[in-house]
Amino acid sequence: MSTIAQQHISSFSVRDLELKLKQVRLAHPEQSLPSPPSSDSGSSSPRESQTEESYFLRSLKECLAIYEETSRSRSESLSLLSDEEVIMLANNGNIATYALEKLFGMDQLERAVRIRRAIISRASSTGTLESSSIPYENYDYSRVLGACCENVVGYIPIPLGVAGPLTVDGTQYPIPMATAEGTLVASTSRGCKALNAGGGVTTVLVGDGMTRGPAIDFPSAIQAGKAKAWIDSDDGHEILREAFESTSRFAKLKSLKTAIAGRTLYVRFATTTGDAMGMNMISKGTEKALEAMQKRFPEMVVLALSGNYCTDKKPAAINWIEGRGKSVVTEAVVPGHVVKTVLKTTVKDLCNLNVKKNLIGSAMAGSIGGFNAHAANILTAIFLATGQDPAQNVESSMCMTLMEPTGPNGEDLLVSVTMPCIEVGTVGGGTVLAPQQGVLDMLGIRGAHPQQPGQNAQTLARIIASAVLAGELSLLSALAAGHLIKAHMAHNRSQVNTPATAPSIIYES
Ligand code: ADP
Repeated sequence: MSTIAQQHISSFSVRDLELKLKQVRLAHPEQSLPSPPSSDSGSSSPRESQTEESYFLRSLKECLAIYEETSRSRSESLSLLSDEEVIMLANNGNIATYALEKLFGMDQLERAVRIRRAIISRASSTGTLESSSIPYENYDYSRVLGACCENVVGYIPIPLGVAGPLTVDGTQYPIPMATAEGTLVASTSRGCKALNAGGGVTTVLVGDGMTRGPAIDFPSAIQAGKAKAWIDSDDGHEILREAFESTSRFAKLKSLKTAIAGRTLYVRFATTTGDAMGMNMISKGTEKALEAMQKRFPEMVVLALSGNYCTDKKPAAINWIEGRGKSVVTEAVVPGHVVKTVLKTTVKDLCNLNVKKNLIGSAMAGSIGGFNAHAANILTAIFLATGQDPAQNVESSMCMTLMEPTGPNGEDLLVSVTMPCIEVGTVGGGTVLAPQQGVLDMLGIRGAHPQQPGQNAQTLARIIASAVLAGELSLLSALAAGHLIKAHMAHNRSQVNTPATAPSIIYES
């Protein structure tokens, strides 16, 4: 029997069935479903359905007595109550809506979600959530609980497309992209085709280190300066390293970078994190190292484990310059005839556009790490598909795209992307969710690498940078050839609710 079928059986009580029938009656009063004995006639009007509702409900007092019976566990008591009765108790303040999963227990998680939807829906001005198209059934909430989300009312599906395959370091990978942006997957696929025609992409991992930068106050700048000198010394570094690395077998302290502003000291810890993206891991290590430091500097006050010197989920030059997460360069040669036949442009036009747009244009705009056309588009779509933290696309999308003529007569194209901050993991975070794991399985990099911890996460970073290369190549080519608007008009016009006069959206914004 499938897991889904089992979930259905274990979470479905007779009372739930009764309520389902009532829901159908309320939604479709014209359909002649059997009515309970209290109904006057066979035809069911909404008013009569309300009467039905109360027919099934016990009084608040009775429900409370069942709920508070001490000879049973809370979850056993709750399974004796109907959804409506639980909602009544919650609305009366006897059950906290945020604690439903804890009270119901692991085998009634979907019911907890269903009841929360009803409570929130009925308290809202629109009242739509309960019967909305936001799905909630057949989802493994056990993986969400205490790890991924609170106050859960369902899940948001995003279309998943596959671009490619793309040959990365000699291996072919399908490129998973979760997106609602028409033409993005098709365009990336076209880039993959052009790259494969030249033999594929080669990648270099030039750095691997997640960072945390606490803010530490001292009574004076002199004392902050002494602490800085101690951290920068071999002795200080060694004491902090030992404390830091005691917290995880995967955390190896790579560097400590210090900076002072007034009497506040900032320390940027950088560490390997195995196959985890590593924010939890590095936070634990940093906390331990600061405890060791406090022994030496009792006057110091740790203001925050993150003092924004990390820098996580905010634009920052330090990330662009020093790197954060995986630093990857990918490179490929696209033969001149492929530039003509697949990309419909020329090496000369591409190189000229890349300089004027991605380099000079971004410089004119004062950009930090934005020397690309739309790295964030491809990266974020793969982040969503593989369970990464989408907010980290801020720094992870930093990218410089370079193009130059190559070959004996400069007829071919040498193209590369340099991405210093790809923050990814294949364990922890959203990678524990089954669909995201399915995508990582497709790539052969789910979970911890069995022999070399960190290799799965590094491979994911290499795949992402390679896909970004494909996306850059395709969009730049489309711009150079001037077909962007035409492609959008054909593929990106929503058939459902876009007014005929609405302008087509361009995916690079
Ligand atoms: P993050 O640090 O990215 O927030 P988590 O703390 O959720 O992620 O996940 C990391 C956890 O996974 C740690 O407890 C770590 O011990 C465990 N783990 C198991 N195998 C690995 C591995 N190969 N690389 C990194 N962490 C691993």
